[in-house]
Amino acid sequence: MAAIFSFKCASCDDIHEGSPSFAFHAPDPFLAQPEAVQAAGHLGSDLCRYEDADGSHFFIRVLLEVPIHGIEDPFLWGVWVSLSETNYQRYVDTYDAPATSDRYFGWFCNRLPWYPDSLNLKTEVHPRANHQRPFIVLEESGHPLAVDYHQGIGVQRAQEIAEAAMHGTA
Ligand SMILES: [Zn+2]
Repeated sequence: MAAIFSFKCASCDDIHEGSPSFAFHAPDPFLAQPEAVQAAGHLGSDLCRYEDADGSHFFIRVLLEVPIHGIEDPFLWGVWVSLSETNYQRYVDTYDAPATSDRYFGWFCNRLPWYPDSLNLKTEVHPRANHQRPFIVLEESGHPLAVDYHQGIGVQRAQEIAEAAMHGTA
């Protein structure tokens, strides 16, 4: 059986145990809006929308799982993607009984620490049953996050990214 991730942190000297997990409470484009636009919109734990001069924008909270070589649990990122209005409505309509064969196109809507700008990477959203958040598959590209997602990362790199995310050492 694969091991549990744990390391002695170079930043704070503590032992951090368990595979790293970081979450964003809102999509970056929402946070970039003026207060009035945010107030007229909606931000929940799984859904977000707002309207600006370009029209309406729709987001859902999803999970990105990056495998860590030799470790049981993946490196988890709780992030947001933007969907078309049709797909957003479909996700809302099937929220309590997701159609797990549905696939939605989503634009990646958070900038992860450590990585080069991850905004607007292309993703495919896979809804899951039992009120688990959907997971995303990143489109294959040369972006380091997409490469890590498809190839997995070593323990050393996982530690570096976790330290950057926890302590802002990116
Ligand atoms: Zn630390």
